[in-house]
Amino acid sequence: LIEVRHVDKCFAGTGTQALKDVSLSIHAGEVICIVGPSGCGKSTLLRTLNVLEPVSAGEVWIEGVSVHARGARLDRLRTKVGMVFQQFNLFPHLDVLENLMLAPVKVLRQPVATVRARALALLEQVGLADKARSRPGQLSGGQQQRVAIARALCMQPDVMLFDEPTSALDPEMVGEVLDVMRDLALKGMTMCIVTHEMVFARAVGTRAVFMEAGSIVWQDAPERFFSNPENARLRAFLGQAG
Ligand code: ATP
Ligand code: MG
Repeated sequence: LIEVRHVDKCFAGTGTQALKDVSLSIHAGEVICIVGPSGCGKSTLLRTLNVLEPVSAGEVWIEGVSVHARGARLDRLRTKVGMVFQQFNLFPHLDVLENLMLAPVKVLRQPVATVRARALALLEQVGLADKARSRPGQLSGGQQQRVAIARALCMQPDVMLFDEPTSALDPEMVGEVLDVMRDLALKGMTMCIVTHEMVFARAVGTRAVFMEAGSIVWQDAPERFFSNPENARLRAFLGQAG
């Protein structure tokens, strides 16, 4: 579904090389969990997968279309990739239902009635059917993050990217968000998740990826990755993190 090949990313100005020769393929139905120390380039990689961040070298393909091709419709490609951030980034002045409906109606130009029905079904799915008319500010962090997930899903993406979706939450709200994500994975959604939730990554992931200093250092099946890592740097990282 998404493929990055030999991608480098340098930030002009600071001269930071955030990604060094990174290659990753995301296939339909995979749940890829990315772990690694702060500053190693995890967010930059996700933003690259979502074409939010132009790359300095290498190639990004979404559904067989190179995003570098002349005339590539980046806005169209982006609509196929849903993204959920650590900070929920909801529109504070819109209610929950309006948050879900805005992009499908304005960007995809889908009929309001269709989008409304889908949005209500998604709110049901994330356990927030009764909050359709609330403003984000009236919701808990966990509820807001579930709205953000439902909003991304309302665009009917083929892939969902999550950047530390539970890191900004109080501990008692982490579970409800992970439950929604686990549900999605069980439904067969293709997902790429940056997370520090090792137990979740091991249980739900189909592949685990370790990044360090802008590179993918190691990837493996989650079971072996977490319980018997065959890479020394990963072992050191997990030793610290766990
Ligand atoms: P964290 O776990 O703290 O979220 P991360 O793995 O997501 O870290 P990135 O945010 O991808 O790391 O950052 C990778 C590197 O790129 C860091 O050195 C960071 O300082 C740098 N960087 C990120 N965004 C920018 C930017 N807009 N301009 C300049 N440098 C940046
Ligand atoms: Mg980050």
